[in-house]
Amino acid sequence: TVTLDLAFFQRFLDRATRVIVAESARLTELDAAIGDADHGANLKRGFTSAADALAADPPATPGALLTAVGAHLTNTVGGASGPLYGTVLRRMGKILGEDPVVEPAVLGRALAAAVASVRRLGDSAPGDKTMVDALQPAADAYAEALGEGDAAAALEAAARAARAGAEATIPLRARRGRASYLGERSIGHQDPGATSSALLVTALHEATDP
Ligand code: ADP
Ligand code: MG
Ligand code: MG
Repeated sequence: TVTLDLAFFQRFLDRATRVIVAESARLTELDAAIGDADHGANLKRGFTSAADALAADPPATPGALLTAVGAHLTNTVGGASGPLYGTVLRRMGKILGEDPVVEPAVLGRALAAAVASVRRLGDSAPGDKTMVDALQPAADAYAEALGEGDAAAALEAAARAARAGAEATIPLRARRGRASYLGERSIGHQDPGATSSALLVTALHEATDP
């Protein structure tokens, strides 16, 4: 079973940065279809610069790491996704607090609170064709699976739910963000933010494997 310590969250950041860089072109392509073709580039800039900043000034606890990445994303990404992902990570960091090892139930509370803060900031709900369509099912699946297993099993369930949620945005009509300007024409395309959210939750799950 996995220990949710600083090394775990460092692996998450490493894997998240790697997959965002690797998938940046695909994320930008998805955003070209229903937005302004910058989502991959936005996140690539944010995650690589956060990873560099944290390598230079390593945080001491899981909470400090997530808070620092979140602040960095808010400041460097630009676009709607920067402040939204910044809020996710800062909210999670705040709930993790100063503890050197995070209890699995606390991670669940942090995920739930992070999704709630995105919904509040973005005035968005599941079904609006946004990152919430991946993040909400992930937080829900984590909470449900944790009742029956350990953190690794719960993170696996969360990652699976996030990927399914991202795919399920294809037939939806966008009600928030730039894609909403397209109205009906947003139907038939996977939401870029839901797609990147699924990659990030998958990175969190993969961090369970050292
Ligand atoms: P921008 O749209 O400003 O260019 P990005 O392309 O980086 O920003 O991010 C777009 C993504 O942000 C969308 O695919 C969507 O998932 C997410 N998003 C946009 N607006 C909202 C909102 N109000 N609530 C939740 N997520 C949103
Ligand atoms: Mg965009
Ligand atoms: Mg933009």
